[in-house]
Amino acid sequence: MADAEIAGLAEIRDYLADLYRDLHRHPELSLQETRTATVLAKRLRDAGFDEVAEKVGTTGVVGVIRNGDGPVVMLRADFDALPVEEKTGLPYASTERAVASDGREVPVMHACGHDMHATCLVGAATLLARSRQEWSGTLLVVFQPAEELAVGARGMVDDGLFERFPAPRIVLGQHVAPLPAGFIGYGTGPVMASMDSLDVTLHGRGGHGSRPEATVDPVVMAANVVTRLQGVVSREVPPAESAVVTIGRLQAGTKDNIIPDRAELGINIRTYSAHTRDLVRSAIERIVRAESEASAAVSEPDLDWFGSAPVLVSEPAATETTMAAFAQHFGQQRLHTMPQVNASEDVGVFGDVLHVPTVFWFWGGLEPESTITAIREGRSDQLPSNHSPFFAPLIEPTLSTGVEALVIAARTWLDRS
Ligand code: ZN
Ligand code: ZN
Repeated sequence: MADAEIAGLAEIRDYLADLYRDLHRHPELSLQETRTATVLAKRLRDAGFDEVAEKVGTTGVVGVIRNGDGPVVMLRADFDALPVEEKTGLPYASTERAVASDGREVPVMHACGHDMHATCLVGAATLLARSRQEWSGTLLVVFQPAEELAVGARGMVDDGLFERFPAPRIVLGQHVAPLPAGFIGYGTGPVMASMDSLDVTLHGRGGHGSRPEATVDPVVMAANVVTRLQGVVSREVPPAESAVVTIGRLQAGTKDNIIPDRAELGINIRTYSAHTRDLVRSAIERIVRAESEASAAVSEPDLDWFGSAPVLVSEPAATETTMAAFAQHFGQQRLHTMPQVNASEDVGVFGDVLHVPTVFWFWGGLEPESTITAIREGRSDQLPSNHSPFFAPLIEPTLSTGVEALVIAARTWLDRS
C-alpha cells in the first residue's frame, strides 16, 4: 500500500529538509504564527490542493482534496513555537525574539518539534496530491496554531472548521518525541493527560510590614493554599488513579516591609479521567475559597480556568488497524508500545466534537544508537526532550519516517481507487 507515494518521497526529500530548516530558523509564538501559516498555505497550493484556506481560527491553515467517493480523512499538524532560547548550536538554530502576550520580549524556539510536524504534513500532503489516481475519498489537511496554549484546536472548531470544510470520519496526528529516530511509539486508549490551567487571585488588605494587625496578609494566605493543595493528590485522589497538581506561579508583593493587597497563583492540573478531573477541580476550588475565608480575606478569591485540553484517547480499534499498516511498512521491530504520557495535546478536541476516532502516535527524533543505549541503561531522563533548549530532532531519518507514517495512516483510511 502507498508504494507510489513512498517512491515519490526521494524526489522531495531535499525540498522538505530546506522547508524544515526555514521553519526552524523562524519560529513564532502561539497565535502569532503568521509567517509560518503563509509558508504552509503556499506549499499546499504548490502541491495542487483544490482548496486552501488561511486564518481559520486566527492563523490555522486548511487544505482539501476532493477525490471522488469515499471517506473524509483528516491529517493534522501543529506549528507554534515556545519562549525558549535555543542552545543546540545547529547552523539553522533560531535567534528569533518576540513579544509575548504579557508584553515581555522573549527568545523563541521550535523546542517542541512542531516545525517537524508541519514539514512532514507538507510532505504527506504533496505525495497524496500527486497520487490521486491511487485513492479515492476526501483528504482534509489541518495545520493548527497554538497547541502550546491548548486553545488552537478549539479556535479552529469555533471558527466553523467542520461546517466550512468536510467533516472527517477519523483524525490522524503525530508528535516527535525523545525516542530513537526511525522508531514509532504508540499507545491505545488514553495516551496523554487532560490539562487544565487556573489563575487564582487572593485578596488581602495591604499595609506597613510593622503593623500586621492592620492588614490581611495575602502572602500567608497563598502559602497556606499552596501547602493545603498538596493534599489533593495525596489524600483525595484514589491511589490507583493518577493526577498532578502543580503551582507553577506564585506572585505577591514588591518590598520586604510592605504587606501587599493581593497574591496570585498559577495552577496546572493533569488527569486521565473525567471523574478525577472533576474531583481535582472541585477540591482546588473548595480549598482556595476556604483558605481565603479562614484568613478573613476582604473579598472572595477570583478563579479563572483559562485553558484546557481533554484526555487524548487514541481509539483502540482504529489505532490497532493503523499500527498493523505501520508494522507492514516499517517492520514490527520499529514499532513500540509506550506508557501514558503526562503531557497534554489538544488534537483530541477535533475528534471529540465530531464523535469520531482519533489515532495519535509518537515518533523518534534522536540519534538512534546513543538513545537506545541511554534507554537500556535507564538514563532516558537525561536525553534532550521536548521543550528543552537542546531538543533538536535529526532531520533524517526523522523527516522521512514522519512523512511515511502520515501517508500510510491516510491510505489506511482512504479508499483504494
Ligand atoms: Zn510542547
Ligand atoms: Zn508539542
